Amino acid sequence: MLPPTDDLLCGRWPNGSMKAAAVMDVNKVGQVEVEIPGPELGYVLVAPTTVGICGTDLELLHGTASYVRDGRATMPHVFGHEWVGRVVAIAGNCQYSRQLQIGDRVVGQTMLSCGGCRACQRGHRNECSQLKEVGLYGQQGAAAEFIRLPAQSLTKVPPGVDDFSAALAEPAVTVLAALDKVGVFPGERVLVFGTGTMGLLAVQMARRVAGTVDVVGIDDAGIGAALRMGAEHAFLPGEARDGDYDVVIEASGAVPALLEALRVADVGGRIAAVGVPNDPLPAVDASELVLRGVTMTGVRHGLDYYERALRLFSEGVLSAKGMIADVFELADVDKAFELLERGRRAAPKVALSLTPRP
Ligand SMILES: [Zn+2]
Ligand SMILES: [Zn+2]
Repeated sequence: MLPPTDDLLCGRWPNGSMKAAAVMDVNKVGQVEVEIPGPELGYVLVAPTTVGICGTDLELLHGTASYVRDGRATMPHVFGHEWVGRVVAIAGNCQYSRQLQIGDRVVGQTMLSCGGCRACQRGHRNECSQLKEVGLYGQQGAAAEFIRLPAQSLTKVPPGVDDFSAALAEPAVTVLAALDKVGVFPGERVLVFGTGTMGLLAVQMARRVAGTVDVVGIDDAGIGAALRMGAEHAFLPGEARDGDYDVVIEASGAVPALLEALRVADVGGRIAAVGVPNDPLPAVDASELVLRGVTMTGVRHGLDYYERALRLFSEGVLSAKGMIADVFELADVDKAFELLERGRRAAPKVALSLTPRP
């Protein structure tokens, strides 16, 4: 990639070092000083203001993520894939960079595809064979004073959407992709497994299109949050009735939930799995799937749904209300992970807040 000449630089692209939060080693997070990434044509420098952390970041911390085990992510690892920030500088012709302006609030796609491989050429960017994922592998994350990203991976945040909502766009896109993939129609009965960030966003979204949305949770706090966000009935695992649902969204990542999903789906029912189970499924009676005509689909990520997710937050269909457990400064990143690790609360999301340089 070519470095731009001065007349191809909009805004002031700082150099030197910056503060970042990183997974330093297995089970150890802390603050580090790293180089500010330099300007490259077509790239934008953004100063993140809010960064959400989630179970995926915990997998990085524990060293259990596949990309840590296979060496794609190395320590110290600057994480952060759920974020919002402000455009600081653009490496490109200012006159032609009308899509983005200095100072714009933006969110960024987690998956950065190559554009040239077979999957990309067929329009399946999220199946790219050269994929990089922001904050996971191949691309520094947003828990830093600055992040450099391709201009086309950024989406402008509409004015009335606050930073917490914008940072929730990343988990929301996968929920939207799941509902889109299985199709949810007016009057249908939906069951959501899980009351974490994805589960609660699925409840918020599905209640607008389905007839009823019920939820399965494992604790009072999560179930209470789901009921406040529009779920009609709440069940503990094993309590929902067999065959009662047209659509099941599995957002807990628990293996028993996937098995229960197969039972509670009605004849012709559709199941979307967005939670990633850590263990293999025990033997499944495949005749159930065939004879009852049940469809089960895995949803990798909602790469093409960022604009829609932000619009839904802007219109109040999705909301950050009741979603944020606590917010920490970058220097207190260890406390943020401690809270996330401690487990379930009514509000599922832990966030970091960054103060932009003057
Ligand atoms: Zn996440
Ligand atoms: Zn590709």
